[in-house]
Amino acid sequence: MSTNAEEMLLETDEPPSSSQWSDWRWQLRNRISDVDRLSRIFSFSYTESANLKKVINKYPFAITPYYLSLIDKGNPKDPIRLQCVPSLEEEKLYFEIQDDPLGEEKDSVLPGLVHRYPDRALITLTNMCPVYCRHCTRKREWPNGKWIRKPQEMEAIYAYISQHEEVRDVILSGGDPFILSAGRLESVLCNLRKIAHVEIIRIGTRCPVFLPQRVDEELIGVLKKYRPIWLNTHFNHPVEITKEAGEACDKILCAGIPLGNQTVLLKGINDDAETMTKLCRGLLRIGVRPYYLFQCDPVSGTAHFRTSIEKGLEIIKGMRGFTSGLAVPTFVVDGLEGQGKVPLQPNYAVSREKSYMLLKGYRDDVFRYYNPED
Ligand SMILES: *Cc1c(COP(=O)(O)O)cnc(C)c1O
Ligand code: SF4
Repeated sequence: MSTNAEEMLLETDEPPSSSQWSDWRWQLRNRISDVDRLSRIFSFSYTESANLKKVINKYPFAITPYYLSLIDKGNPKDPIRLQCVPSLEEEKLYFEIQDDPLGEEKDSVLPGLVHRYPDRALITLTNMCPVYCRHCTRKREWPNGKWIRKPQEMEAIYAYISQHEEVRDVILSGGDPFILSAGRLESVLCNLRKIAHVEIIRIGTRCPVFLPQRVDEELIGVLKKYRPIWLNTHFNHPVEITKEAGEACDKILCAGIPLGNQTVLLKGINDDAETMTKLCRGLLRIGVRPYYLFQCDPVSGTAHFRTSIEKGLEIIKGMRGFTSGLAVPTFVVDGLEGQGKVPLQPNYAVSREKSYMLLKGYRDDVFRYYNPED
């Protein structure tokens, strides 16, 4: 079927059948990725639409029908909409913004392999994702066409890791590794598992959020074979915790794969303690442990999402003690030029007074605590 015919099908009154809706291939095929269709859905004016076409030349977009269905179409500030619908803000120039502020290119020992920390390495398997987050830190990878690492590139990556015995933790990232077919993913996992010093494999994927249908029997069957695998996903707002997302996470957990979450702190989306608490409690309910809360990186095309660092500290301060410790992520700022992640905490240690430390409790009461000398 031609793309046009598919669009006609979606845009006539024929709703998808429930088996189509729950088929990830259908969800991917029927993504909204052209401005005209987007404009009809959100009633953009002719000028808005023309301007957006310029934005997406640089930063393309795609939205699965599932993720689109979570948007309240009448609300221009809807937290799902802000994450996936392109905006003119992406073209604005901001201070101190770069394409690759973290220096990933500099820390790439090979195409697709970032080796920054002593004992772990990160592989970018593809630049494709089911939906393109407008706040993506690897937005620089979008303009030059879609790719999946070629077999020769993968061979070089396996060889490097084999030769570097200090690498005991390999992170599969992208893009979204679950864009690969189950067979291709299996080949990657199988090759990594042949390297004895690789103790754990981590996968970063936003499929539970964008395309929960992707977590099917075949994929679970593959993942199960190569444990220990730790999976980190990326929920940013409580609205994303749907029945479908919960079911996808449950399948992953039942396969013996622990689930963590990496949230990006985003202005107007999740930048208050109440929303963050609701999100993190919701994650615990579906078995997902909040891992990191990231300060939004100073990346070109994403600066309108950035808050102050103090905002992140204020959110953590508003959570610690007020809700389950398991729900509280570590707030991190990713350092520039490969400095690595910098964890930040509100300051609870007020000062030292001779053999006492002055500490502050979560309710802000300061108390003296005897502090023996070492
Ligand atoms: C974040 C990151 C890691 C993993 O860091 P952890 O703190 O172990 O989760 C590894 N490599 C790169 C390049 C990273 O950005
Ligand atoms: S899922 Fe991750 S890699 Fe993909 S667009 Fe979003 S932030 Fe970028």
